[in-house]
Amino acid sequence: MSIDRELIKRSGSKCELCTSTENLKVYTVLPTQKGGLDESIYACTTCIDQIETPGNEDLNHWRCLNDSMWSEHTPVQVVAWRMLSRLRSAGWPQELLEQMYFDEDTLAWAQATGEGEEDENKIIHRDSNGVILEHGDSVVLIKDLKVKGSSMVAKQGTAVRNIRLDHENAEYIEGKVDGQTIVIITQYVKKT
Ligand SMILES: [Zn+2]
Repeated sequence: MSIDRELIKRSGSKCELCTSTENLKVYTVLPTQKGGLDESIYACTTCIDQIETPGNEDLNHWRCLNDSMWSEHTPVQVVAWRMLSRLRSAGWPQELLEQMYFDEDTLAWAQATGEGEEDENKIIHRDSNGVILEHGDSVVLIKDLKVKGSSMVAKQGTAVRNIRLDHENAEYIEGKVDGQTIVIITQYVKKT
């Protein structure tokens, strides 16, 4: 059987990362030794494009790793590990990574592309689209947010200028709404 057909069978015609059923193709997990089924996954072009273009990740898309990291297939686990490593500064990917255990050979394979190494100690804030946020940026709220400790609701569409980043936590920024400084979770904002 060809590798395409083997992978279609293994995956049930779904992206092995995000379960999409559209635009699927074989993705070879580099570096390969023997090639073939044990070093390939079946994935959609949305996943593959983001794997191959660091910096363009849609953080929410990769929530799919929450499930696919538990795949019984090693190449799927390896790709999940690499993407979680790349996105670890967002917080939740780091938590998932800490639940993954590889044998020595698999870990060496996963680490072979150097994914996530340079960012290891760096906290990077990203908005709901995965765009990097910086001190002083302007954002807009993408949903109504209750402000902790008050009856105030910051409305969807509210513009927040001159944000500050929480240096301990990549999921938090601070900004002024109605003259009051509030803490906002990065996944509920969009950079403008
Ligand atoms: Zn996918």
